[in-house]
Amino acid sequence: MRIVHMAGLLFAALLLLAAPVLAKDIDLVVPSSAKQGTAVVVTAVLDSPERTVRFVWQDKSLNAPVVSSRRGWEASFLLPVPVNARNDIRIRAQAGKSKASATIRVLKVDWPRQTISVNRNYVTPPKATLNKIAADRKKTAAVLKRITPERSWRQPFQRPVPGVITSAFGGHRVFNGEVRSYHRGVDLRAPTGTPIRALAAGKVVIAEEMYYSGNVVFIDHGLGAVSSYGHMSRIDVRPGDRVTAGQQIGLSGATGRVTGPHLHLGLNILGQAVDPLSLFSKQ
Ligand SMILES: [Zn+2]
Repeated sequence: MRIVHMAGLLFAALLLLAAPVLAKDIDLVVPSSAKQGTAVVVTAVLDSPERTVRFVWQDKSLNAPVVSSRRGWEASFLLPVPVNARNDIRIRAQAGKSKASATIRVLKVDWPRQTISVNRNYVTPPKATLNKIAADRKKTAAVLKRITPERSWRQPFQRPVPGVITSAFGGHRVFNGEVRSYHRGVDLRAPTGTPIRALAAGKVVIAEEMYYSGNVVFIDHGLGAVSSYGHMSRIDVRPGDRVTAGQQIGLSGATGRVTGPHLHLGLNILGQAVDPLSLFSKQ
């Protein structure tokens, strides 16, 4: 009887000792700061399995699936820092009864202006092409809006072509003297015929010719992340195809609105265009 009682006390003491550890079972891994217009990898590391982690920031939220990893169990997603983000981003993670939070300081960027001279048809498109342009926009918008609940991407991301940057992300575009938009992707040097590789695993959701983008491929990487590859001379994949990271999806070219062959690489996260190259630099 006395021994049982002692064992009970010991058990209670062990529970008390364990309690502080149990209360801190989400480790939220984020960079301390990030530039406007970048993608940030957010990871919650758990020491017990849960189905999903719910991430909440500003007025947005996302449920990310938990997978087993070297560190235990973890859930990751790509957080977009909008080009016009003004305030620091406070992010919270919740799994079961556990919670954690962190703040990412937003660093402002002085976006450059770029003057571009192209064929007049691409600045003021001929009437006959307006329907095609509208159809392209509608199709693209639908794809960028979807949030596939599974995550296909894994780090490290693969650079689609080896070439250097010829036009950076975010520059305000002045076409033949008119400010039209900002550059929602990055242009990489790629002579016609250069193999283009998927930056991460995913599912092809668009593979066709569009008026401005020329031959273009969009890949859905899950949890709201979609990459796009424009101006290709040849497309090697079809909608519905699953691709692996680094898989060839086509060849570079000069189709659509271009002044010469290159790869226009886009990355959209939860509806926000961000600099795809931010995935390749350490943050
Ligand atoms: Zn471009």
